[in-house]
Amino acid sequence: MTQLNTKLVHGLPLGTDTTGAVNPPIYNSSTYAFETVESMPRWDYARSGNPTREFLERQIAQLEHGTRGFAFASGLAAIHAVLSIFTPNDRIVVGANIYGGTYSLFNEHFRRWGLLSTPVDTQDESALEQAVRGDDLTPPARAVYVETLTNPLLQVNDIAAIARIAHRYGAIVIVDNTFVTPYLQQPLDLGADIVLHSATKYLAGHSDVIAGLAVVRDDALGERVYYAQNRLGGVLAPAECDAVRRGIQTLALRLERQQENALAVAQHLLAHPYVRDVHYPGIHGEPVAAKGLRGCGGVLSFEVAPGIDPADVLDHLRVFRLAVSLGAVESLAELPARMTHFELPRSERLKVGITDELIRLSIGIEDVRDLINDLDQAFDVAQEHARRRSTDDLYAVLAI
Ligand code: PLP
Repeated sequence: MTQLNTKLVHGLPLGTDTTGAVNPPIYNSSTYAFETVESMPRWDYARSGNPTREFLERQIAQLEHGTRGFAFASGLAAIHAVLSIFTPNDRIVVGANIYGGTYSLFNEHFRRWGLLSTPVDTQDESALEQAVRGDDLTPPARAVYVETLTNPLLQVNDIAAIARIAHRYGAIVIVDNTFVTPYLQQPLDLGADIVLHSATKYLAGHSDVIAGLAVVRDDALGERVYYAQNRLGGVLAPAECDAVRRGIQTLALRLERQQENALAVAQHLLAHPYVRDVHYPGIHGEPVAAKGLRGCGGVLSFEVAPGIDPADVLDHLRVFRLAVSLGAVESLAELPARMTHFELPRSERLKVGITDELIRLSIGIEDVRDLINDLDQAFDVAQEHARRRSTDDLYAVLAI
């Protein structure tokens, strides 16, 4: 059987090319001619489907071990389409630690629309079971929605355990697999029913495209997601489909380097005097393979020590770029409280552990020595500023 690394490179060619080109063509056509009025062509209009998109959709379905894939204009467009398969008054149990944009989609857009959501700490199986089961007044949930690694605290969700609980009550499981990709975990193999990606991140991998993907376990779900894709129309354009396809070809090489670098950075931070805690799967000895992960990815987060201003660290980085997003070849750093998770009210943020001192890093493929030196010099500046602040405070007290 063809191995994963080979599938990443080759995809599943459609068999329509007659030129011998080693890459699939980009078909920049919005409409496709019928041979006759009576004929039913394979493609008729590019929103409904086109060969460039089909290549990518088959490729991601193959990689995620699903029956059908769908490409969207962004990760949020993919999530929007998938949540649109539900109807008003359906209830979805949602992991408490998710991407801020998804949080706002649930709590603003879909709440207005009548879709109910129940937040839950997915690390707590009995709380999850209770939330899925409902009670005398609340019918069982229709779905559980989680991210493979929680964002930005990088807790590992045990997809097999979550699926067992959800399926017991007839709920389907939707997993956002953006942080680890099928290279490190295929959630459908663990019992999930729909997998989502912001392909903007690791799959495309170069911070040059916004894209989303969805993969379903069976044809019935496939029909419902296809209806939402075609009718809501948030489809990915052919040139972007090709950019994602090309990114996927080098996914294995990039992720291997990213996670090797991430582990080295996490270990360095763990021993750093200006760091209070580090969040990276397995760094405190917790088992991750048992939860179905083949690796831990390239994102980590940490809290700076009391007195250090996290903005001082971030503002003085020179190799890391101060930017949201993740999964690209270059390293990025950000402050979740002010950037990726600003949609969460502060009280909600603190409840799920996203403090004002938390910094998130997306580690790229640079030389790890440059990344570590960059963090150290930014910490030195932040520490000097902290020292000056406390001296000023002391003079202010003495002057009173
Ligand atoms: N899911 C996760 C885990 C994300 O981090 C993001 C964006 O950061 C999204 C979904 C949304 O994806 P996009 O920005 O491609 O719409």
